Amino acid sequence: MSTQQCLKNAKTIVIKIGTALIVDKSGDHVRQKWINALAEDIQALRKDGKNIVIVSSGAVALGRTSLGIPLDKPPMSIPLQKKQASSAIGQFHVFNGFFNAFSPHDIKIAQVLLTMSETENRRMHLNARATLSELIENGVIPIINENDTISTGEIRFGDNDRLAARVAQMIEADVVVLLSTTDGLYTANPDKDDSAEHIPVVEQITAEHTEMAGEAVPGMSTGGMKSKLEAAKNAVTGGIDLIIANGMKDHVLQNLIDDNAVKSTLFVGDHTTHNAKKRWLSAHMRPKGQVFIDDGALKALQSGGSLLPVGVKRIDGKFERGDILEICTESGHKLGMGISAFNKDDANKVIGKNSDQIADIMGFTGRSELIHRNDMVLQA
Ligand code: GLU
Repeated sequence: MSTQQCLKNAKTIVIKIGTALIVDKSGDHVRQKWINALAEDIQALRKDGKNIVIVSSGAVALGRTSLGIPLDKPPMSIPLQKKQASSAIGQFHVFNGFFNAFSPHDIKIAQVLLTMSETENRRMHLNARATLSELIENGVIPIINENDTISTGEIRFGDNDRLAARVAQMIEADVVVLLSTTDGLYTANPDKDDSAEHIPVVEQITAEHTEMAGEAVPGMSTGGMKSKLEAAKNAVTGGIDLIIANGMKDHVLQNLIDDNAVKSTLFVGDHTTHNAKKRWLSAHMRPKGQVFIDDGALKALQSGGSLLPVGVKRIDGKFERGDILEICTESGHKLGMGISAFNKDDANKVIGKNSDQIADIMGFTGRSELIHRNDMVLQA
């Protein structure tokens, strides 16, 4: 497998853009020409039927001069609240850069600010995923950044690498492309060691690779190879490929697809196992309740469908939306596990009802599945 093949085969691609590619040297402006070229590449990918999601950094860097923070002050030495305020100022400019680039192509974009914990908490995960899926289905490109204002930890550069991998798992993307100023993985640090060799493909990440990545360099823009490798580990265990590529030159995506002199490292996803969420689900020992289903629903599940309220006979236990339920046949035979899209009270109101009745019963249009097929794992 090569980077080129991987991008050609992919249906849904998450592209993460590092600060150094978004912000010009003055620190005050976006690199509009570069973003415009990226938008042209993305337009071509969409014509090819691909879904695109963007995770972009750059907000802190674009806001800091407004707060009088000198450009040469290392991010580590800037107090957290100043970085958060900078991000709040700069985020508009990041989004505006994409807006200017995509508008001429008549491509709609949407600003989505997430926190890392949102992707960890299943309830918030469901909401974030629903929003992203809705945008993607409607042909809108989400432009995601971490919600720095409410981030509980230090804003660390490199967090967006991991955020991109988590978003990819959330929406079941095929590949994540981390664009920054590095060419990917080398056998040693190429800035210090002349004999360092570039590695184009990593089939399996080993301790040796982790050592090659070294420690994160506290710099202006990138989290270094360390955070990229962590993101790669997250992605590949979830069955997602991850590419690290040097995005400095215009039209990087097109050049990667044409195999045109852009260096990259492809980390090949683990396609042999269940995806990570399903593994997490099947390892979950304490469901909050049980859902008993009829034969029609059993058939639907076995052929890869979601569990609709109409096929549910009864429900046991006390659970909230986002909790894990055991899925059983009417006679109590255990079939698998899944994440409930309803809390217990609401679930009880809709079971046995057709999907088109649910909005009337609930008083608003919500989910039509009790357990979405992507949130379910059936026993072999
Ligand atoms: N959220 C930060 C920003 O927009 C960047 C974090 C990162 O680069 O990983 O400036």
